[in-house]
Amino acid sequence: MKTIIEPFRIKSVEPIRMTTAEERDRCIREAHYNLFNLHSDDVLIDLLTDSGTGSMSSRQWGGVMEGNEAYAGSPSFYRFEAAIKNLMPFKYLVPTHQGRAAENILFTVVLKPDSAVPNNTHFDTTRANVESQGADAVDLVIAEGVDPDSGHPFKGNMDIAALEQFIEERGVENIPLCMITVTNNSGGGQPVSMENIRQTREVCDRHGIPLFIDACRFAENAWFIKLREPGYADTSVPDIVREMFSYADGCTMSAKKDALVNMGGWLAMNNEEWAVECRNRLILTEGFATYGGLSGRDLEAIAIGLEEVVDEDYLKYRIASTQYVAEHLAREGVPTVLPAGGHAVYIDARRFAPHIPPLQYPGQSLAVELYRHGGIRGCEIGTAMFGKRPDGSEAPARQDLVRLAIPRRTYTQSQMDYVVEVVQEVFARREQLRGMKFTRQPRALRHFTGHFDYVD
Ligand SMILES: *Cc1c(COP(=O)(O)O)cnc(C)c1O
Repeated sequence: MKTIIEPFRIKSVEPIRMTTAEERDRCIREAHYNLFNLHSDDVLIDLLTDSGTGSMSSRQWGGVMEGNEAYAGSPSFYRFEAAIKNLMPFKYLVPTHQGRAAENILFTVVLKPDSAVPNNTHFDTTRANVESQGADAVDLVIAEGVDPDSGHPFKGNMDIAALEQFIEERGVENIPLCMITVTNNSGGGQPVSMENIRQTREVCDRHGIPLFIDACRFAENAWFIKLREPGYADTSVPDIVREMFSYADGCTMSAKKDALVNMGGWLAMNNEEWAVECRNRLILTEGFATYGGLSGRDLEAIAIGLEEVVDEDYLKYRIASTQYVAEHLAREGVPTVLPAGGHAVYIDARRFAPHIPPLQYPGQSLAVELYRHGGIRGCEIGTAMFGKRPDGSEAPARQDLVRLAIPRRTYTQSQMDYVVEVVQEVFARREQLRGMKFTRQPRALRHFTGHFDYVD
């Protein structure tokens, strides 16, 4: 295969401050070995998240100047609405400042304390917003989706039999809606097939349950369908996207992902009664119906981003670049989750450093070392994040992973090569990695603010 080249040239640059290993050693100690505590200008390649960290195009920046800031009825809103409806033709649209605001409004309106929401895998804010209504968030991804060795092409698929069974057991009257997340972020950015969306729709139809798509990475998912699902190789990405959404009754969206902007989101649906209530809620918490939590310039940038994200040259580069990192690591023996997802590469830290027991956080130790050795900031997704039970006890998480999330259109191929080299160098002396412990931890979400140190 030829070198992957970025399908853009760079017009404006942001310098990276080079740091020495000694400086980084001091920074990470001062951050109590928690990468969330670092100042980001002490980071060389920041792979903490792909959310809101991408680069806008010159057309989007031009759109920012065109933004119209009228309180009501701004032309920027109508451009935003047209761009969304071109891909996701739902009747009612509610602009929000980011994805979780859309979730909060939707669930406040449609859930009751005894409700349950099935999903392939809830993203953490989605789960938290369901649970804050007193309802249950239930994950029903296929078994292959949680098996790091499975080569299944659509590891984000919903387990259709489990969904049927769940609806029988819980009762239709307690399930106001079903969701499906594309791509499955918490399941490693793995895609969902068109067939699976269609089958989920059939089950929902049979029981009269509305289906909502958590649409954050809809374009990456559509590209995987084009590449991997029989019958779609010659279908255009916008047509694949339209078909995906034709099976749904609504969606929630974080524009910080596949709308190629740094802030924004929306909620869309066909149900008029729900839409009226959601709009009332929007005005209470976000803003008037034609801007929600956004300025006119944000609405313009999103409208343009939605045109750019379904461009096939962009998607080809995007997915190839993620795959490149995962495959080059795997080739050197670094245990990674394969096939690679759309937006991130996951290193299996438990197999990377088998001498560190899960309760000594091998993922945290590896993430710290990637920063110290090469200035790369990834994110532990394992026992430090999920290991603490509500009763205060601790157990190993299902997996100990380090996620390297790739911001959109931000880092070059040579910077990705550098990432591969740094991981390989740490892998070559992996037996030197040491177990860690918490020296301070809050009651909930300890990975964000907790302090770590090495064991003994
Ligand atoms: C990011 C994300 C959200 C939440 O969106 P925010 O804009 O961060 O509030 C919801 N679902 C998925 C799948 C996401 O990736």
